[in-house]
Amino acid sequence: MSSDINTVHPLDTEGTRLSIKKPALRYDRQGDMSDGQRVEAAMRTFVREFGATSAIYLESCIHCGMCAEACHYYVQTNDPRYTPVRKLEPFKQAYKREAGPFAFFYRLFNLKPRVTVDELQKWQELIYDSCTMCGRCTLICPMGIDIARLVGQARHGMFQAGLVPHELWAVAERAEREGSPLGATPKVFKDRIDWLSDENAVEIPVDRDVADILVTMSSIEIMKYPQAIVATARVLNALGEKWTIRLDGYEATNFGMLSGNSQWQKDLSMKMIDAAVKCKAKLLILPECGHAYGAMRWDGANVYGKPLPFEVLHISEFLARNLGNGRLKVKNVPKSVTFHDPCQIARRGGATQAPRQVLGKLGVDLHEMTPSGDGNWCCGGGGGVVTIHRADELRYKVFQIKMKQVDDSGAEMLVMSCSNCRQTFDDGQAHFKWDKTAHSLLELVADNLVQ
Ligand code: SF4
Ligand code: SF4
Repeated sequence: MSSDINTVHPLDTEGTRLSIKKPALRYDRQGDMSDGQRVEAAMRTFVREFGATSAIYLESCIHCGMCAEACHYYVQTNDPRYTPVRKLEPFKQAYKREAGPFAFFYRLFNLKPRVTVDELQKWQELIYDSCTMCGRCTLICPMGIDIARLVGQARHGMFQAGLVPHELWAVAERAEREGSPLGATPKVFKDRIDWLSDENAVEIPVDRDVADILVTMSSIEIMKYPQAIVATARVLNALGEKWTIRLDGYEATNFGMLSGNSQWQKDLSMKMIDAAVKCKAKLLILPECGHAYGAMRWDGANVYGKPLPFEVLHISEFLARNLGNGRLKVKNVPKSVTFHDPCQIARRGGATQAPRQVLGKLGVDLHEMTPSGDGNWCCGGGGGVVTIHRADELRYKVFQIKMKQVDDSGAEMLVMSCSNCRQTFDDGQAHFKWDKTAHSLLELVADNLVQ
C-alpha cells in the first residue's frame, strides 16, 4: 500500500485497513488579533470563570490517574496527552499564575510561566477535537472533579481568543445569524412541516398563540431525520394535546454552548424560552438531542435568571410518563434491542431510566451493553466533535468501542434517543461498512402506537 502523509488508515472491526483523507494538521484562528491579544483575551476569560467551585476542582486533583481509563480517547490511543486531567493544563497554569491563592508568588518568581499562544493553539485539539464533554472521567474521579464542566469553561476562553476549530465556529456563527446551525431557517422548517404534514396526513400545528405544550426540534432532525417531526406530531395528536411548534423558538441545538460562546448560548436558549412564555406553555419538550437537554433542562433557568415558568422534559421522559400513566398505548415489538445512552441525557442529565421504561412498555427483549446507563461509553460525536473534520481519524478510533459494545450485546436492533449520536452512528456505519443501523426511540414508539 502506498504511503501518503495525508492519508490515515484506521482499522475496521475485521482488521482491514480503511483509508480516509486526513486534512493537514492545522490550528484554526478567528479574527485578526495579535498573539498577545489572544493570550490576553483567553486569560481574562479564564480568570472570570474561576469561581469557587472551579478553584476547588483545580486545587484538589491528587494525580491518581483514574480518569485516564475512563476516557475513550486515552483508552483507544494510550496517548498520555489524552488523559482527561492533562486537558486542563493551560487552564490550571492560568489559575495558579493569575487567580490562585499564591498567584502573586507564582508571578513574582515566575514559578508558572505565562501561557503562550503556542500552548493555547496546541490545546485547541485537546479541548475540542478530543473531548466530547461526556463526563465519564467526572463520574470516576475520586475527588469529584467535574472535568467535563471545566473543559466547557475553558472553551469560553478559547472562543474569546479566536482559537476555535473552524467548522465548529462556523456552525455556531450560522446558528446565531440564521437561527439554525444547519440551515433549518424558519422558512425551510415551515416548508418541511407543510410537506411532511401533506405526505404523512398528520396535523402539525405551527405558531398557535396559546398552547399547553411547546415542541422544539434539533436541526439535525429537521434536515436529516425529518420523520422525527412526524413521529412527535403522531404522539401528541394521539394524546389529544393542545400543542404547537413556533417559528420564533424551535431550534434546540446549542452550538453557542459547544463552541464556548456564552452570549450565543443565551441567545439560542432565550428564543425557546420567549416562545414558550408567549404561548403560555406549561411544558417545553426537548427533542432527541443530548446537549439540547443539558442546555435547557439544566442551564435554562441560569440563562433566564429565574426559575423557568414551565416544565422541561426530554421527549423520552415525556413518552415514559404517558406510557406509564396509560394515556399512550403501544403494540409489542418482538425483538431484542440494545440501547445507547446519550451522555448528556443519561450520565450528565440524569434521565437514564426513562428510555428503559419506554422500551419496557414496547415489550422488547432489552440486551444491555456492558457497561450501560450512567457508565455507558460515549459514541465520540458529542461536544461538537462530529463537526470537526480533522478529528475524524480519532473519532473513528473511539467509535470502535461502541461497535464492540453493540456487537457484544447480540441484539437485533440498536436504539437511541439523540439525533447527534444517531448521526455519529450512521457515519460510523458507512465508514466501517458495519451491519448495524441506529434507530430512534421516538420513531419506534410512533410506529407502534395503538390509536
Ligand atoms: S481522577 Fe480526578 S483526582 Fe485522579 S487524576 Fe483524574 S482529575 Fe485528578
Ligand atoms: S469528558 Fe469524556 S471525552 Fe472529555 S476528558 Fe472526560 S472522559 Fe474524556
